[in-house]
Amino acid sequence: MSTATVPPDAPTARPVVGVLALQGDFAEHTAMLESIGVSVVEVRGPSDLERIEGIVVPGGESTTLSMLLDSSDVREPLARSLAGGMPALGTCAGMILLAREVLGGRPDQRSFGAIDLAVRRNAFGRQVDSFEADLDVVGLAGPSVHAVFIRAPVVERVGPTVEVLASVELGGELRPVVCREGAVIVAAFHPELAGDTRLHALFVETVLASRAELSRAG
Ligand code: GLN
Repeated sequence: MSTATVPPDAPTARPVVGVLALQGDFAEHTAMLESIGVSVVEVRGPSDLERIEGIVVPGGESTTLSMLLDSSDVREPLARSLAGGMPALGTCAGMILLAREVLGGRPDQRSFGAIDLAVRRNAFGRQVDSFEADLDVVGLAGPSVHAVFIRAPVVERVGPTVEVLASVELGGELRPVVCREGAVIVAAFHPELAGDTRLHALFVETVLASRAELSRAG
């Protein structure tokens, strides 16, 4: 009688997710992912990218993160992985770094262009620099998501293949704050700060779906 064994790359193996740990609130993302059973690699150099199946780009300061991506030599290999379809979750500054177009950035600031959005930095306005809102997010069951916005970017253009999963109304206008294009999910707020793991869990589902696709492709 043969004994069934689980191959090392079976879909039941724990997902391995990188958290860009150059600046910003990466520790909160690491804690949240670990709390839902993910194996986390904090990414500080190119070799940290080798085993990961997805990447979280945290909030922080996108201008500083952009400089550190160059000085750490992480930018080029990460750009290649993203261009190859690696799933990504970007929050706040992470959303800015993953966007195709950045408005109000520093002239030397560069982004990965992993999601077809134009975002404007710090554009919610001085009076509402930081605010909180309860959001209904498409694809997340249960109560609304309590979202903490801190000097958040505003989405000014949404590409034709980008889905808007949640919006907030501000000054009479509906602003997209959670968007998705394929395996890339971005949020203008900080889901790692409110103790709600559902957005991270949605991202991990994407990572597992992409793993299944890669194993089918052989
Ligand atoms: N305003 C910051 C930037 O432009 C983002 C703020 C945040 O990540 N909380 O990078």
